[in-house]
Amino acid sequence: MSISPPELRVAIVGSGPAGFYAAEALQKAAPGVRIDLFDRLPTPFGLVRGGVAPDHPKIKSVTRVFDRIASQPGCRFLGHVRLGEDVSVDELRARYDVVIIAVGAETDHNLGIPGEHLAGSHAATEFVGWFNGHPDYAESVFDLSQTTAAIVGFGNVAMDVARILAKNPDHLATTDIADHALRALRSSRLATIHLFARRGPVQAACTTPELRELGELEGVDVMVDPRDLDLDPASAEQLARSDDRTPARNLEILHSWAERKSSGAPRTIVLHFNVSPVELTGTHRVEEMELVRNRLEADARGGVRAVATSERQRIPVGLLFRSVGYRGLPLEGLPFDERRGLIPNVEGRVVEQPGSTTAVPGVYVCGWIKRGPQGVIGTNKSCAAATVDQLLADVTAGVIQPAPSSQSPIDDLLRERGVAVTSWGDWLSLDQAEQERGAAAGRPRDKVTSVAEMLEIIRTRRTG
Ligand code: NAP
Repeated sequence: MSISPPELRVAIVGSGPAGFYAAEALQKAAPGVRIDLFDRLPTPFGLVRGGVAPDHPKIKSVTRVFDRIASQPGCRFLGHVRLGEDVSVDELRARYDVVIIAVGAETDHNLGIPGEHLAGSHAATEFVGWFNGHPDYAESVFDLSQTTAAIVGFGNVAMDVARILAKNPDHLATTDIADHALRALRSSRLATIHLFARRGPVQAACTTPELRELGELEGVDVMVDPRDLDLDPASAEQLARSDDRTPARNLEILHSWAERKSSGAPRTIVLHFNVSPVELTGTHRVEEMELVRNRLEADARGGVRAVATSERQRIPVGLLFRSVGYRGLPLEGLPFDERRGLIPNVEGRVVEQPGSTTAVPGVYVCGWIKRGPQGVIGTNKSCAAATVDQLLADVTAGVIQPAPSSQSPIDDLLRERGVAVTSWGDWLSLDQAEQERGAAAGRPRDKVTSVAEMLEIIRTRRTG
């Protein structure tokens, strides 16, 4: 769809992939659109900066596309503005024809087992934010003097966590990993990293390249018990009728590992299938984990589910990472679907409550807060384009009528409140500062991990 509405003014909240792709779709379909792209941090790019593993630089190169989008006429970046604190959803709605929420899924799921909150038990998202230098997690501490870690979950985040924990730090030293993480990983004493999947290899949520990478790590043995790869009837059937080649490819890799003998490498990654943690125990911190063996059976929806058996085992664990998926957070002034952890919507149009078809006028969603935390970065492109299609259809139908706002401009409002808003130019100077710091150590960048320091660098570069 392509239209030329009179100066459509759009606020996009969240400058991760979903926010940028929404801006791009608008720029293509509605030339002349004016976009203000907000982020709570002075830095853009969301999970591309704070979530993608540092040893996956190719994935991060998508920021070049985002640079181009941000540089289009009519597009502004307003960094360091917190929705709900510095400005409310209603204040945005009063100043823009359209508000698109693209804030992602900012928290994680719990396991819901006793002992989960013992010291040494962490969310994988916290570890990922920490090694990526996200300011929210710069002060986190992970006790890498432990020799055994466990990761619960078998998705790509679990793969990233296992790989970063196991990898030779010299191979991370040429990446943009946070300096504090590199230092801590250099003194890590971890020798064994267990990965636990509650279902079988056919249901593994990770993609094949990410799984394969574990077996390519220098100084690391990957072990899997061949009995864990014996397929139950429901999994065999699922595999046979799958159009997706991923399970078969994953299985092939796992079988090749099951045949390997230990080489005596300094680190071992042990993969376990069909087990769920039931309890974490320890006096002051996590020391042991109890697991239950699951059997798999077909469920009523054509899937395969795990059912606990009576077989239990305990293993020593000094560090635990739960990697069982992200979850969205509610935003004041907008409805929330507690069950799914997202903002209820119909094809991107925010609706009054889950199951409702009554739209909240002028408010749209895209990315993980729209569809839940699944898919790779590119998935957000079609997701955002679909939302923008609905939005433009609403403009065409007259549901949204672009009109000048009677309210004070957003810049005035934020200035009155003393919000230190940062611009795209500010980000470019911070970006340059990080690259200069990194160059001295032969790294692509040395990330600034505190918002106060970011603002200080920006202030100095503005005046200098
Ligand atoms: P995910 O792909 O949804 O995987 C979650 C894992 O947790 C699954 O193995 C799931 O098992 C398991 N799980 C859920 N609840 C559990 C419970 N109560 N007990 C035990 N296990 C449980 O989520 P993710 O790894 O956080 O990744 C989020 C998205 O980001 C994914 O789409 C992923 O592909 C993407 N991502 C991509 C990359 C990359 O491309 N390199 C890197 C990182 C993330 P069940 O299947 O049994 O539910």
